[in-house]
Amino acid sequence: MLKKDDLVVIDITDLDAEGQGIGKAEGLTLFVKDAFVGDRVEAKVMKMKKTYGFARLMKVITPSKDRIEPACPIARACGGCQLQEISYEAELRFKENKVKNNLIRIGGFDESFIKSVMYPIVGMEKPLRYRNKAQYPIGKDKEGNPVAGFYAGRTHSIIPNTDCLLGREVNETILKTILDFMKAEKIEPYEENSGRGFLRHVLIREGFVSGEIMVCLIATSKKFPKAEMLCEKLVKEVPAIAGISLNINAKNTNVIMGEETVTLRGKSEIEDELCGIRFKISPRSFYQVNPVQTEKLYAKAVEFAQLTGKESVWDLYCGIGTISLAMAHKAGKVYGVEIIPEAIEDARKNAKANGITNAEFYVGKAEEVLPEFYEGQKGSEMCHPDVIVVDPPRKGCDEKCLETMLKMEPERIVYVSCDSATLARDLKILCAEKYKLKFWQCYDQFCRTVHCETVALLQKEN
Ligand code: SAH
Repeated sequence: MLKKDDLVVIDITDLDAEGQGIGKAEGLTLFVKDAFVGDRVEAKVMKMKKTYGFARLMKVITPSKDRIEPACPIARACGGCQLQEISYEAELRFKENKVKNNLIRIGGFDESFIKSVMYPIVGMEKPLRYRNKAQYPIGKDKEGNPVAGFYAGRTHSIIPNTDCLLGREVNETILKTILDFMKAEKIEPYEENSGRGFLRHVLIREGFVSGEIMVCLIATSKKFPKAEMLCEKLVKEVPAIAGISLNINAKNTNVIMGEETVTLRGKSEIEDELCGIRFKISPRSFYQVNPVQTEKLYAKAVEFAQLTGKESVWDLYCGIGTISLAMAHKAGKVYGVEIIPEAIEDARKNAKANGITNAEFYVGKAEEVLPEFYEGQKGSEMCHPDVIVVDPPRKGCDEKCLETMLKMEPERIVYVSCDSATLARDLKILCAEKYKLKFWQCYDQFCRTVHCETVALLQKEN
């Protein structure tokens, strides 16, 4: 029987949903972080349950043919990228397989059927430097100097790194300017344990099309007498900075941003363009982090919707209205639903700014707003739309929402998902009787990490 501290040699045959290697020793399943399919490794047992356990990678005895030197020197310690040590081709294969297997195992679809309705995964030409948003925590090193970096694995200790390879090169200049300024002006980083100090986080967002950069400093108080001086320095170093703001978060919490944001210089939000539509993005709004891949994914969602100019469309979980507005000029009428009121305000403003008049937005839970309309407006075109698009968070759609979608009987359902397990669970319900899965395709939006987006088209069966 395996026990803690035992050393074992295992062949890694699979990866779990978090990217950990899976292998067997003495008939028991072991999970080994940083080990990949095809590796033979030596690992040390850290924790055993009845039928499975966790082991630490000690040595790669025979490396998998997919192994590569990670592009980032701190990839393993940081833990933000789980797949930096395998080739990008192997990563794409892993992701597509994961989604396929979930559709088969959880969704209950037949394997040959699932393969027959799959389009190949869409990856990036260069899978680095794709993020338009970076959020760096600020802390202190052992000498007491201010540092910016990332929390190691699941801990709260900061690994200094001002140049995450998933983010833009300009982030480093911005962070160094801020850190130098903190040192020179004796501005204290926030300390989680004592709650003392000033600067907690730096948020940087860049509009890839507009070229505008927004810097938001997250601090414990509004009192920042030297703000003007720092702004001068930042804009001098990086003229593309369109706005600098200060968000106040005095609470002892892991939630990064507080309620109040004040503009220190320039604009409080940046603008960007996605699918030919201009969007205003304020510091607290959700906006997809990989705009290059998002455009491709949404283009596919629009294609799946098969709009001719007449259709009525519901866009559930619509955020700032990205999908709704990308569909509006090809549809008759679009109705967006989103839980965050500020996002709906943004969506309405964005519609107006783009001259779109056939989109309406509602604040609320999809699982409440949709049934209310269905019950209240029976017979209207809103209750029998041609297309329903959903783009839910990882937990997927609520059952009540799925139930109402089935009652509304749209011709087509376009499901955009960031979690293939809940996608498979929901497709099983939708495809039980009335709907047939026509196509599905993965889009790699989060290169070098285990996360993957999928878009699926369902067609009503007559
Ligand atoms: N389609 C948008 C947003 C997708 S993210 C875009 O691409 O930008 C998922 C969105 O669902 C988030 O904006 C989140 O606030 C919202 N949300 C979460 N739970 C919800 C619910 N129960 N009902 C409606 N919206 C919800």
